Amino acid sequence: MDINKLKTLTEELITHKQNVKLRATVRYLLSHTKVYKEIFEERKIDWYDIQTIDDWTKLPLVTKKSYLTNPEDFIVKVNEDDAVQVYQAYHEYIDFNCSVFLKKIFKRTKLKEEVKEFFTPKIPIFSGGTEAGKPSVVFMTEMQRKQLCEDIEIIMKMWSNYLDRKIIGMNLFPYGPHLAWQGINHAFDEIADMNLCTAAGRAMSTEQLIKIAKNFQPNMFAGMNSYFRQRFLPEIIKQKIKLPEKIIFVNGAEKLLSEERKQIKELSQKAGVKELVVLDMYGASELKSGLMAECKENSGFHQIQPFNTILKTVECGEERKGLIEEWEFKEKGYSVLWNLDGAGTKLEGYLLGDVWEITNQRCNCGLSVPTIKHVDRIRNVEAQLKLTGIVEGKVKGTRINLSELRNKILGIKEVTEVQVVAEKNKLRLYIIGNKKVKSSIEKVLKGEELKPEIKFISLDSLEKGKLKFEGIIIK
Ligand SMILES: [Zn+2]
Repeated sequence: MDINKLKTLTEELITHKQNVKLRATVRYLLSHTKVYKEIFEERKIDWYDIQTIDDWTKLPLVTKKSYLTNPEDFIVKVNEDDAVQVYQAYHEYIDFNCSVFLKKIFKRTKLKEEVKEFFTPKIPIFSGGTEAGKPSVVFMTEMQRKQLCEDIEIIMKMWSNYLDRKIIGMNLFPYGPHLAWQGINHAFDEIADMNLCTAAGRAMSTEQLIKIAKNFQPNMFAGMNSYFRQRFLPEIIKQKIKLPEKIIFVNGAEKLLSEERKQIKELSQKAGVKELVVLDMYGASELKSGLMAECKENSGFHQIQPFNTILKTVECGEERKGLIEEWEFKEKGYSVLWNLDGAGTKLEGYLLGDVWEITNQRCNCGLSVPTIKHVDRIRNVEAQLKLTGIVEGKVKGTRINLSELRNKILGIKEVTEVQVVAEKNKLRLYIIGNKKVKSSIEKVLKGEELKPEIKFISLDSLEKGKLKFEGIIIK
């Protein structure tokens, strides 16, 4: 699918095709996935009882905790003898044609290859670890890897319109077995005129990276905004290096606050940049090929492959043994997903760990695919509730939004970074910046009922050698 074809999609068509793929997934793939086999059998629900996504209310939601206990049980496992038959049934249902049948007769070798690409877990994708204590691992098949590459190419082509000259790409994600670095490297291979093949984190030092930037003048950067703001741009400025006048920065793997976007723009100006577009991307290993991206600043994240995942929001009751039996669809709430992208790891009715809002309105860019906005971590929200709960015990107060609080403080001039640490009923702010700003911070906090403790600290003592900077830490 290309961007023009994506623009022809309507909400009705997307919902229809998602439901067709959901039925095919349930009937032909979930019956070969241990966890779902048990869930359906225990509740005496037939595979054919699930016709549309609304029917999933008969079934429980799966939590991250339950998934991480045994990720192996979520992989589609089909006997070698049955593989072709399952593959054929699944495809005939979603494509309404007999191409697999014909391949069975005329192109047996090709079919064998396709079946292998469809079922065999090829790449483990690790992500997170900050929320659950250990990273989630999700297995992608070769077919899904190809799909992901296609998605990234679509996004990059959409973005490259912002640049009117040759694209020189600089990858500033840490190198490792996670989607971000690999995805961006592939994208630059495909759409950039030159891919510098760099990596941040421990792979290459900032000094090395800025030397390359000085010599090659990259105009498309991708990485975590904290690294770009805290390390890369300050070093560029310090060494008086000039970047091209027009550049794009793509953020991924961490939240991007409005004040962080502003800070990147201010810093880039000091490096000679006249025009800068800061775009944000959203992904999670559990979404597999379901990558989402902004088309322009603050557009919300567009679901580039709407047929590969169903995204919803729910309100839910208590968790029992890793499952949530009582829940309902709600317009705003906890994010839940259903993988519809073939075999590998299957997560259906899976609570992702974020809160967001979904809109299907057609965007100015022409896309009317599902778009998510106001993304935050459930853990942050829960901590907010906990903190507020404590406050409410003493003073009746409004809710405290940790991301919003961090954004506000970052907006103060001469504050370069803020780390919000919530522990039990205490809230601490670690500030990097001039100590003189303390009174400005206190002014901003005046309206808040919960008075955080303010500590000034250096950048190095903040990070504690971790690869990923965490703006909000919940202990
Ligand atoms: Zn758009």
